[in-house]
Amino acid sequence: MARVFNFGAGPAMLPEPVLRQAAAEMLDWRGTGMSVMEMSHRGKEFIAIHAQAEADLRELLAVPANYKVLFLQGGAAAQFAFVPMNLLRGKNGADYVATGYWSKKAIAEAKRYCRISIAASSEDGKFTYVPRQDTWKLDPQAAYVHITSNETIEGVEYHWIPDTGGVPLVSDASSHILSRPLDVGRFGLIYAGAQKNIGPAGLTLVIVREDLVGQALPGTPRVFDYKVQAEADSMHNTPATYAIYLAGLVFQWLKKLGGLGKMEEINIAKAKLLYDYLDQTEFYHSPVVREDRSRMNVQFRLRNEKLDAEFLKQAESRGLTQLKGHRAIGGMRASIYNAMPLEGVAALVDFMRAFEKSHG
Ligand SMILES: *Cc1c(COP(=O)(O)O)cnc(C)c1O
Repeated sequence: MARVFNFGAGPAMLPEPVLRQAAAEMLDWRGTGMSVMEMSHRGKEFIAIHAQAEADLRELLAVPANYKVLFLQGGAAAQFAFVPMNLLRGKNGADYVATGYWSKKAIAEAKRYCRISIAASSEDGKFTYVPRQDTWKLDPQAAYVHITSNETIEGVEYHWIPDTGGVPLVSDASSHILSRPLDVGRFGLIYAGAQKNIGPAGLTLVIVREDLVGQALPGTPRVFDYKVQAEADSMHNTPATYAIYLAGLVFQWLKKLGGLGKMEEINIAKAKLLYDYLDQTEFYHSPVVREDRSRMNVQFRLRNEKLDAEFLKQAESRGLTQLKGHRAIGGMRASIYNAMPLEGVAALVDFMRAFEKSHG
């Protein structure tokens, strides 16, 4: 069977050259006679793989020297708790901006640890936009301000970085990290589950400013204490070794491609192809406010929802898979992360046009 164009939101497509290299190195990593999966995380081979992955990530994102890069586990959902546990630093509460399903999840979890104030919300518009900064009510005493910079389910993305004054900005960037250059220095902490745009599930990336760690709540498990993990190079416990190796291959792939500036150009072209089509048809529509549309997760609907099942069936038969929207909101969603080639988006638009012709 040929490889399909997989539009799933996560776990998602990985670049084919990365999978080929992993396959070639599966049984014998560079003459060691073993798979990376079988190596000691304390051995010099894996330490080198880990160090290279971190160095490449730092280069790609131009991570400033006063930031720690951590490779943790537990997914972005674990970070919903680890962020307040680590970043409250003796303060009473934190500000959250509610822009969709995942920010609501982050808020619900953080509420178990402290007082949460909703600085802004787009729930009134069914989470189809990002509230403009001049409507936010920020508390200068807050421990941090949390945003979800790309809402994977609603397909809403920040194309700007909020100004939170002296209060650290925290972002759940799970579904658009590495899709474009990022000014890391504007954030106190950035986290991302790997399975959207970094590598396989099981790995969580945390980039945190050094001065914010070291004051975790009493009772915080040590494996979840950023300071402990930072001092142990993310090896206080056995890290997700194979996932780190694969992420490292993805970072190499991005570097070879020309870095995040080049990646962004390609991502803009892909998103434009799909949104331009959506904007000139009556058959489909995109509910998201134009300037806040995600380049990574394109939410769209058929005007006649009775055709949804037939649309999905025909798409599947053409090798265009996992287009069904999240069960929370229905409709369709095309996740077009870094690994989705332009040809995949072109094939989707061709299919959508043909389906419109035969059912419109
Ligand atoms: C997928 C996703 C999550 C959840 O990630 P897990 O790895 O399943 O914990 C959280 N936030 C965003 C924005 C996501 O896209």
